Amino acid sequence: MTVTIAANAAPRPVPLPIPRPIPLAEIAPWAVFAALVAVILLYFVSTEQGAFALFKGMLVHEYVHDGRHLLGFPCH
Ligand SMILES: [Zn+2]
Repeated sequence: MTVTIAANAAPRPVPLPIPRPIPLAEIAPWAVFAALVAVILLYFVSTEQGAFALFKGMLVHEYVHDGRHLLGFPCH
């Protein structure tokens, strides 16, 4: 038995399985964690200076200084 294949035959598309949606109960803890990390980072960029500083010195302030100006927080 011989099989003949046409020269211009395109491969047939294979349907991909549709992924199921992620349940909210699985996303919620990660969303809370991401929000907590974002708030902590926002604190260091926006408020870590002067009387509100958690760490002595200007190391954190200088490290996030460009981000502070980029986001429009008052600085100097
Ligand atoms: Zn500045």
